[in-house]
Amino acid sequence: MAFESLTERLQQAMSKLRKKGKVSEADVKEMMREIRLALLEADVNLQVVKEFTKNVRERAVGVEVLESLSPAQQIVKIVDEELTKTLGSEAVGIEKNPKIPTVIMMVGLQGAGKTTFAGKLANHLIKTEKARPLMIAGDVYRPAAIDQLKVLGQQLDVPVFDMGTEVSPVEIVRQGMELAREKKNDYVLIDTAGRLHIDEALMDELKQIKEIAQPNEILLVVDAMTGQDAVNVADSFNQQLGITGVVITKLDGDTRGGAALSIRSVTGAPIKFTGTGEKLTDLEVFHPDRMSSRILGMGDMLTLIEKAQQDYDEKKAEELAQKMRENSFDFNDFIEQFEQLENMGPLEDLMKMIPGMSQMPGLENFKLDPKDVARKKAMIYSMTPAERENPDLLNPSRRRRIAAGSGNSVVEVNRMIKQFKESRKMMQQVSKGNINNIPGMDQM
Ligand code: GDP
Repeated sequence: MAFESLTERLQQAMSKLRKKGKVSEADVKEMMREIRLALLEADVNLQVVKEFTKNVRERAVGVEVLESLSPAQQIVKIVDEELTKTLGSEAVGIEKNPKIPTVIMMVGLQGAGKTTFAGKLANHLIKTEKARPLMIAGDVYRPAAIDQLKVLGQQLDVPVFDMGTEVSPVEIVRQGMELAREKKNDYVLIDTAGRLHIDEALMDELKQIKEIAQPNEILLVVDAMTGQDAVNVADSFNQQLGITGVVITKLDGDTRGGAALSIRSVTGAPIKFTGTGEKLTDLEVFHPDRMSSRILGMGDMLTLIEKAQQDYDEKKAEELAQKMRENSFDFNDFIEQFEQLENMGPLEDLMKMIPGMSQMPGLENFKLDPKDVARKKAMIYSMTPAERENPDLLNPSRRRRIAAGSGNSVVEVNRMIKQFKESRKMMQQVSKGNINNIPGMDQM
């Protein structure tokens, strides 16, 4: 996950203050030096680092004595606020056309993730506003791009307009736009070609497409892994084309995160979305305040909850809540939980969104190991329906039978049952609103 070492370093820099009752100017100076180094090491643009540290220093030195917060807490708050400001302050949504269709053009270098993002955006619009988008395949130079977009279209049941690779992208877009008007699609998503580097021919073509399509949004897709380069690319695209927003992809990788932190300040264009994986659901709406808390290791509960809402089947969640209240959570539910979690992506990443969890030792152990899950499923499938519904039936002889039936040792079966019982207990605590009884939660 991105920002890991930055988070660690920023937390270290600020934790020194936490132990102090009073914060002197020298303390602030020392902290700022460390924050500055941490940001530079994370590949944040030098100008952005200067501006950020200047703002924090000015506010931190004059920190007033408030009764509710210690000086260290106030400084953390200032860092959080300034980081939020650097990231753009407010979340900025898609600019909609008062008349349909709203036209969104994706631009960016080859491999940045434009085609993938077009699919993710279509999925997002369908999920959040039951949209009926049309996608236009305007990347004729990378033949696979058209097929890739068509496959995404099929998965999403979204029409894809293409004219193969022999027609000019400008003409394809012109005809695609006509079709969208005729079919009354509410969104048109235009996938355009990228090159390895910015060149004039590419920019000219994009300008012509812009002219024809009159897009409401020109979203620049950049790859977070390219660091400073992403910032330079964003700057040139913006100067030539006037972008309306930025999408930062591959934030799931171990990028140092400098691009994400610099782009807004350098280009003035808001970051609108981030890509966090290859799946269609791996898209997050960008909220500067939430990203700041996540970078500072303060967690991001809101995104976690939204993610859970989007990925979770609501009816199943309600049934589960009912079972938690009644304490009738059984092995069938346990298996379903695994399946839901598998759909939600790496558990480790989700855990980090919980406040205070990012620095928890042993977080890497939260990886959902597919082999381990398969083993547990095998054990549960070796149970009789009655055993699955009533875990208390599992006496030693039944456990031996399950072990033999699933090809595991009795020790492993016992461990799985113990884990199940712990989960059940924890869920009951949560459903009673008794969150402090969960190990670790009281420290938050
Ligand atoms: P395009 O040339 O800009 O259209 O790029 P593609 O959409 O073909 O993406 C290039 C590669 O990056 C593909 O292998 C995608 O699966 C991958 N990709 C795109 N977005 C993300 C992301 O957010 N995270 C990760 N890990 N991979 C991504």
